[in-house]
Amino acid sequence: MLPKSRGKVALISVHGDPAIDIGKEEAGGQNVYVRQVGEALARQGWQVDMFTRCSGANQEKIIEHNPNCRTIRLTAGPQRFVARQKIFNYLPEFVQAFFDYQHQQKTIYPLIHTNYWLSGWVGMEIKKLQTVQHLHTYHSLGAVKYRSVNTIPLIAKTRLRVEKKCLETADTVIATSPQEAEHMRSLLSNKGNVIVIPCGTNIDCFGSVNRDEGRAKIGVSPDTKIVMYAGRFDERKGIETLVRAIAKDRFKRHENLRLIIVGGSTPGESDGIEKNRIAEIVKEVGIENITQFAGRVEHEELAYYYAAADVCVVPSHYEPFGLVAIEAMASRTPVIASNVGGLKFSVVNGETGLLVPPQDEVAFAEAIDSLLSDQQWRQKLGTNARTRVEAKFSWDGVASQLDQQYMSELNQLWSKLGLLEPAV
Ligand code: UDP
Repeated sequence: MLPKSRGKVALISVHGDPAIDIGKEEAGGQNVYVRQVGEALARQGWQVDMFTRCSGANQEKIIEHNPNCRTIRLTAGPQRFVARQKIFNYLPEFVQAFFDYQHQQKTIYPLIHTNYWLSGWVGMEIKKLQTVQHLHTYHSLGAVKYRSVNTIPLIAKTRLRVEKKCLETADTVIATSPQEAEHMRSLLSNKGNVIVIPCGTNIDCFGSVNRDEGRAKIGVSPDTKIVMYAGRFDERKGIETLVRAIAKDRFKRHENLRLIIVGGSTPGESDGIEKNRIAEIVKEVGIENITQFAGRVEHEELAYYYAAADVCVVPSHYEPFGLVAIEAMASRTPVIASNVGGLKFSVVNGETGLLVPPQDEVAFAEAIDSLLSDQQWRQKLGTNARTRVEAKFSWDGVASQLDQQYMSELNQLWSKLGLLEPAV
């Protein structure tokens, strides 16, 4: 039976194109979130349009993922990749392009759900000129991020100001973990309406492959011990900590150890520079012979890597949510993660994986060593991890929570407008 038609929603993600290849420069969790949430909401009966900035002259302008879910690329600024720190000046053009699109299509979106502070600014501008309900997801908070990086970009002041205002003026802000909600309150403002709805993962894809199939596919023998990382090359991801941990003497007794680092990079761009830095450290600490840079792997293909791995490490200095952790957990692979942000919510220490202090290579080495040495424990943690993901982090479960929230937002909008029935 087809779901009841719900209405129209615009998911706005200026810099995180939901239709682009994941795992490369600036394409990561946010792109996955917007795409998966969009498709899951469409399955629930919403008509979802995902607006992003066109970043290539040859890109298609409209991509139909399914009859109720599309990516729409608006022209705002040059039609090439622009780093997110440099996008702010093009946002007025993006707002104008959004209104032009509505005008041409003779439509109005009563709900807008913005992603990341840049889109949050866009949402606030739209709300100045049109009666809409504005929902916002931060994906990353400048106020937290800037505490864990060495260089603060020039845009920082603007970002912090916009983040505070967005919390205070959006109709609803969606935190993806209780930790993120706490940060909003302690670091941004007491005002504003915050609810928690976590990120999700595809529990049919991740978890569908067993260990032997995974190893056969990626060409690793059954007796190899695999420690893996997946994600972007970005200093805050803490790959250096993992590499230095694996170089510790204690790992000499593990025969056939392999470190697999998955993630794309572009020479000359910031992820290419970080990848070269990590490769230099791998050489410096003498683990070249056991380290494999697997490059970017298609999102669904990652299921083989997670299934093949004995442990997945998420060593981030800071992590607003961390999709990789729940993808590995869905694949029954225990996670060793930094004890920060959303990872404290998804990984239950001692039950579904282990949490250790960020940037502490000795603590990471101890945790990895202890799990590699105990197969039964790994299995127990992996089974618990799968159960936790099924209960809390499936995309359809996440979309149901968003569906309820959107319905309540629409009701608020109709009552603001003095209408009993939806006008759109
Ligand atoms: N990813 C991928 N292929 C790769 C590397 C990463 O599909 O080669 C995906 C990964 O599966 C995850 C996302 O990129 O869904 C990274 O999200 P996460 O929240 O862990 O980190 P972020 O990029 O948001 O900092």
